[in-house]
Amino acid sequence: MNPHIVAIFGGAISGAEAAQQLAQRGIRSVVFEQNALPYGKIEDGLPKWHAKLRDKEEANIDEKLAHPLVSFVPNVRLGRDIDFKDVVSNWGFSAAFLATGAWSDRPLAIEGIDDYVGKGLYYQNTFIHWYNHYHEPAYSGPQLETPDGAIVVGGGLASIDVVKALMMETVQKALKSRGIEVNMFDLERGIAKVLEQHGLTLEDLGLKGCTLVYRRQVKDMPLFPGETDTPEKLAKAGLVREKVLTNAQSKFLFAVLPCHVPVDKIVENGRLAGLVLRETRIENGRVVEQPGTEKVLRAPLVVSSIGSIPEPVPGIPMRGSVYELGDAEHCRLKGYENVFAIGNAVTGRGNIKESMEHGRTITETIAEHYLSDPEGTFAEHLREKEISVSEQISGLVDVIDKLPAPSSGKADALFGKVTKLQKKSGYSGNYSEWIAQHLPPRLEQLLGLTGH
Ligand SMILES: Cc1cc2nc3c(=O)[nH]c(=O)nc-3n(C[C@H](O)[C@H](O)[C@H](O)COP(=O)(O)OP(=O)(O)OC[C@H]3O[C@@H](n4cnc5c(N)ncnc54)[C@H](O)[C@@H]3O)c2cc1C
Repeated sequence: MNPHIVAIFGGAISGAEAAQQLAQRGIRSVVFEQNALPYGKIEDGLPKWHAKLRDKEEANIDEKLAHPLVSFVPNVRLGRDIDFKDVVSNWGFSAAFLATGAWSDRPLAIEGIDDYVGKGLYYQNTFIHWYNHYHEPAYSGPQLETPDGAIVVGGGLASIDVVKALMMETVQKALKSRGIEVNMFDLERGIAKVLEQHGLTLEDLGLKGCTLVYRRQVKDMPLFPGETDTPEKLAKAGLVREKVLTNAQSKFLFAVLPCHVPVDKIVENGRLAGLVLRETRIENGRVVEQPGTEKVLRAPLVVSSIGSIPEPVPGIPMRGSVYELGDAEHCRLKGYENVFAIGNAVTGRGNIKESMEHGRTITETIAEHYLSDPEGTFAEHLREKEISVSEQISGLVDVIDKLPAPSSGKADALFGKVTKLQKKSGYSGNYSEWIAQHLPPRLEQLLGLTGH
């Protein structure tokens, strides 16, 4: 048996791929996951209307984590339940991989605005987590509000998801108050279509709709992963982005305010009541604010969707908003011989383009592909992520081989600690059983729909 044992923090797309790559080489790994389910952004970030894609990706993760050389430890959060330095330095692991993703929202740069989180302001990760789970009978998290006329700040795909979710929630409620029941899956095919079927408009329902506020031009929106390294490719990417946004707007009836940046908050009665926006100009690719162009945009809700960054963990060195690497080639953490960052934890980026570039070069045809099959493109992105992790692990196997492996006594003690943590979480070691017990009821099941 290979003497090395690797700790993997985070069990989703990247962590599971790393565990599989190691298992294929006969290396044992222990996957510490903060949640009961190891699905990360697939479960809590990918909006729930992508039910088929979600199920397929989760099954893919399950297959990898059920491998006999992988020990899964659910409900154990690095930095809270286990100490980073202690695990990587004292437990006996040959190496450790940080596959913890990017779960902190990049803060809105307006002084004091975070005092209004939950009082007129939400950030994207919290919003989509709620959206994906609030229908579950056992959901006990915060209940979020979705008033009409919200502002969404952002410009990437995730911000379009937030706008879509808000529009669907408000239209669904308004239709219900008129006695018209439609479900999320109907609305996701196009709000415009549903309203047309009922001979209604947003105005008839008394709705204003959301406004997406973006600091650049529509043609700059990171809405699909495409190359932009020549003027021709840049122009083509711009056209595709405009088309993607126009398609989304005509289906989901939201407004877009490009070339505006939030600079101040409007507060009333202890709640955020809107934003002060300033116009921008794009000069040589840079956003230049135009002082004196400020205007007030009032709204009962602001959702900020300007990107996700890795969460700080005590003991893990940070450089700005990302983990600090000492050796960029291997993504080795600064100050640690045996700790490597993988997946979103490396890039910490809020957009797919840059995380894909972390893997391999993107083909131009993805632009056309995105328009006809956005879900397929997303799945493709996940495959790219796996490829980049798998290539990284291939490069790391030799590095790990040179690191000290635990003695058999130390390995026994290590697995003793692992078993203790598993027991504390109520995990018996039967992966499939655990997943079956913890998978929540899905909206499509609750609605009695099949084929989703
Ligand atoms: C709405 C949306 C937004 C997206 N945003 C991005 C993006 O910003 N960048 C990008 O490249 N791709 C993004 N994607 C694409 C894609 O989802 C991700 O690239 C991919 O899923 C990332 O996989 P991962 O395993 O690296 O990270 P994640 O899916 O985030 O998985 C990390 C795992 O680590 C666990 N974890 C986190 N902290 C701890 C801890 N302290 N202890 C133990 N476990 C922990 C989490 O619970 C999770 O299971 C996004 C997709 C969607 C739908």
